[in-house]
Amino acid sequence: MSLAGKVVLVTGASSGIGAVTAQAFAKQGSKVVLTGRNEANLKATEKACKAANCKVELLLITADVTTDAEKIIKRTIDKFGKLDVLVNNAGYGELGSILDIDVDQFDRVLNTNLRSVFLLTKYAAPHLIKTQGNIVNVSSIAGTRSFAGAVAYCTSKAAIEQFTRCIALDLAPKNVRVNVVSPGTILTDFHKRIGFSEEEDAKFLEHSKTTHALGRVGEPKEVADGIIFLASDSSSFITGATLPIDGGRHAMCPR
Ligand code: NDP
Repeated sequence: MSLAGKVVLVTGASSGIGAVTAQAFAKQGSKVVLTGRNEANLKATEKACKAANCKVELLLITADVTTDAEKIIKRTIDKFGKLDVLVNNAGYGELGSILDIDVDQFDRVLNTNLRSVFLLTKYAAPHLIKTQGNIVNVSSIAGTRSFAGAVAYCTSKAAIEQFTRCIALDLAPKNVRVNVVSPGTILTDFHKRIGFSEEEDAKFLEHSKTTHALGRVGEPKEVADGIIFLASDSSSFITGATLPIDGGRHAMCPR
């Protein structure tokens, strides 16, 4: 489908990959629903979307995906009357070994990165069937590769990839496509939010040059481009697919 005039809901649009993805859809002429918890940051994304396309129609919803999934879909339909594309991007990580973390951490991470995606998908599906729309989820290299000290995050991202495939099959008879992108390390606030200090973050980014085949980390725009591709008619025969956007990291193994 051409993305002009389509109603696109982007979760986690207040920062990083989601903010840049929202701008990319705005540039395509889509009507964009921006959701996130931080209102000031959502307003910054609103400004950036308007800079990308001065005619863009936007809806800002300050909401938490863990508690407000139904409200987010309802407000989208109330405002625009339809939904064409759902981008489940909101997510975060917490660190810790199984020897140290408690079940509350596991629940927090899974609630945000997986359970909210289930709920948003459930509430959005009838509307996507009406528009013959599609879903793009955001996983991570951590969905297929395993990292010590990140059990809840890795588990949540592995699950979102399997969830994507299952939902793709459920919705294929209704002609609704469901795909997932799997980014490598991308330059956003993600790692600082996990708790990396400035110094740790700089060290991690430097090391990441060796863990990505292309010798660098990625930019949010490179993930947004993949999401736009999967949401558009350019990928009309693709469903249930995982698209790595990771500079070749998924193909590497230590030696
Ligand atoms: P950021 O921390 O920059 O952005 C995360 C976004 O998720 C923010 O907009 C935040 O909103 C939103 N969010 C988190 N929790 C909630 C919640 N409970 N309710 C509503 N919104 C929420 O990180 P990225 O842009 O990097 O991350 C986007 C996605 O990409 C995530 O799913 C992440 O796992 C994935 N990813 C990131 C990688 C990276 O290296 N950066 C690598 C691989 C995957 P707010 O601030 O308003 O609360």
